[in-house]
Amino acid sequence: MEIEHKIIGSTRIMGIIGNPVEHSISPQLHNTISKHLGIDAVYVPFKVEKQDLENATKGMRALNAVGFNVTVPYKKDVMKYIDENSKEALLMGAVNTVKCFEGRLFGYNTDADGFARSFKEETGVGFSGKTIAVIGAGGAARAIVVKLAMEGAKKIYIINRTVSKAVELAEIVNNNMGKIAFYCGDRESGSEFVDFEAYTDSDIIINTTSIGMHPNVDESPVPENIRLKSSQIVYDVIYNPDKTKLLKQAEENGCKCVNGLGMLFYQGITAYEIWTGVRLKEDFLTELYKNFQGILTK
Ligand code: NDP
Repeated sequence: MEIEHKIIGSTRIMGIIGNPVEHSISPQLHNTISKHLGIDAVYVPFKVEKQDLENATKGMRALNAVGFNVTVPYKKDVMKYIDENSKEALLMGAVNTVKCFEGRLFGYNTDADGFARSFKEETGVGFSGKTIAVIGAGGAARAIVVKLAMEGAKKIYIINRTVSKAVELAEIVNNNMGKIAFYCGDRESGSEFVDFEAYTDSDIIINTTSIGMHPNVDESPVPENIRLKSSQIVYDVIYNPDKTKLLKQAEENGCKCVNGLGMLFYQGITAYEIWTGVRLKEDFLTELYKNFQGILTK
């Protein structure tokens, strides 16, 4: 009989709480990093029912976990059980990463950081001084819009099916970071801009909705009659399929296109770096990303 040495007396826990969690690729991602770095930790998925969220969160602290991720549907609800949420997470209204440190829980949002890292990595372009159209006003949009504002975007247009949610999101930005966000809608509804103007005026167009996601691969959030320009960068947070209808439209018009795979990858990388204080090296990340592309798109 061979003695198993992977988990020993000093091994600490990392994990993810959510419901469902069975599909999560985070265990493979984080356990691979720990193995590579020789860090004595194990990352485990925890399916948590709504009524157990408080106990599960406090339990992670009681069990001396290194930290944990939080996924759907608890990114907002978990915040009330955290001792200190970052300013960014408070503005984004969601926490997806918690660090346990000296008996206290610290909440962060790495979705936006993952988005920004992947965008810059793949385009070589930052957000400072840029005019950006964001389609959607849900959870992903809020994280991204706040990040864009924090990183110095000049103007952000928010286009959403439910205009009242776009109005709310624009207010969050404008009340906290100066008036740079504008919701789009009919002129009759009091909107300063219509969708068409936002698409035409923007350097960068970001889809944060689920339109075009598998199995609805023939749908695009940008109407066919909008002619995208080759100077525009189009980012779609969707990664399944890897090329959405929107990205195909954009590619046909010569735009630089990026899908959401890098965002998914880097939100996990940033979480790991927060927990351990280790900044992962670029060559390791490049190799890891290549190896994980297959798993991430399953
Ligand atoms: P939410 O439910 O919070 O928001 C959904 C958004 O999509 C809303 O703006 C909603 O508009 C809009 N929407 C959905 N269906 C339609 C439709 N048929 N027509 C028009 N608008 C529609 O979801 P999230 O923000 O959490 O997630 C959105 C997408 O982002 C998902 O596809 C998710 O997989 C992806 N995502 C990717 C990540 C990554 O790492 N790459 C990370 C997080 C999310 P309305 O307000 O009118 O309902």
